[in-house]
Amino acid sequence: MSASLPTSSREWHLVARPHGWPTNEDVALRETSVAAPAAGHVLVRNIHFSVDPYMRGRMNDVKSYTPPFELDRPMDGGAVGEVIASGDERFAVGDHVLHGLGWREYADVPAERAAKVDASVAPLSAYLGVLGMTGLTAYAGLFEVASFKEGDAVFVSGAAGAVGSQVGQMARIKGASRVIGSAGSDEKVKLLTEEYGFHAAFNYKDGPVTDQLREAAPDGIDVYFDNVGGDHLEAALASFNTHGRAAICGMIAQYNSTEPNPAPRNLALVIGKRLRLEGLLVGDHTALRPRFVEDVAGWLASGELKYRETAVEGIEHGFDAFLGLLRGENTGKMIVTLG
Ligand code: NDP
Repeated sequence: MSASLPTSSREWHLVARPHGWPTNEDVALRETSVAAPAAGHVLVRNIHFSVDPYMRGRMNDVKSYTPPFELDRPMDGGAVGEVIASGDERFAVGDHVLHGLGWREYADVPAERAAKVDASVAPLSAYLGVLGMTGLTAYAGLFEVASFKEGDAVFVSGAAGAVGSQVGQMARIKGASRVIGSAGSDEKVKLLTEEYGFHAAFNYKDGPVTDQLREAAPDGIDVYFDNVGGDHLEAALASFNTHGRAAICGMIAQYNSTEPNPAPRNLALVIGKRLRLEGLLVGDHTALRPRFVEDVAGWLASGELKYRETAVEGIEHGFDAFLGLLRGENTGKMIVTLG
């Protein structure tokens, strides 16, 4: 047990369910008291927490693969921090842990839901991104769901984001014939080709995605990793070669829509091209984790795989970070860092 513990902690609560784009009126930063951990729990000072697009879905009161956030309760999500008091013999004060109680300064975490992480192997924030949930999503989606094989031409949308940037580089490392990415700014497009080794990239805001993809992939694509949906999925269907495969990971273009999205209007192409479109949930692929960590740690060490993070400082800016993520203000993983 630690001698002096903080007495209060701030945490973000959802106070109203957003319709369309979330606003500051939908959330509140509230103060709560901190107690010493009970037996079997650890008290963690969060150092970084994750904001992720899937959290937008959890703000809605609809049944999904993750339960909705409860109103007037702290939101949760990935976080890494330091144990400052322990009620469990498996954890000591000073241990760094990954757990699921983000969006708050101090977290009372059941010991069985905390996993030790090593700050000497990688910066702690990496366990939320490149070595964590978003990295595993990229790895599982590309290699398992989309059945990537050497020589495939791969298109990834949201390509400068946490998942997309890893997908494109993993495909390049494993011998893709061509890697094409789309992103929402010229700066991000430049990063894809100049730093991450994509063969081609385009800014989806510059013109119809179908036309830009055709130009970037004149010989068609074999794999599409979908982070966006809508016009991007429609474009991929148009550019697919026969027996193409899509890992449907996310459809961020419609997370804040209040009306159903019209695209893709060309779904019937699935038949003639014998396409396979398969949804992906990272939680189904935890068994891949040891192989994923070994591969990614190796590629990071050799410099073949690169990553970026956008860190927003201060709990009081946590919700701004989330809104910024939805608007594309991040390059790579969006992280909230607590002082
Ligand atoms: P990102 O780091 O990619 O951040 C989101 C990005 O989406 C923004 O930076 C923005 O980049 C882009 N974006 C926002 N609105 C649009 C739009 N209308 N059209 C095109 N791009 C848009 O987030 P993640 O890497 O964490 O997540 C990527 C996707 O993967 C999301 O759809 C997410 O829901 C999904 N996901 C799914 C998982 C699963 O298990 N199925 C697990 C993890 C993530 P830009 O500037 O390029 O517009």
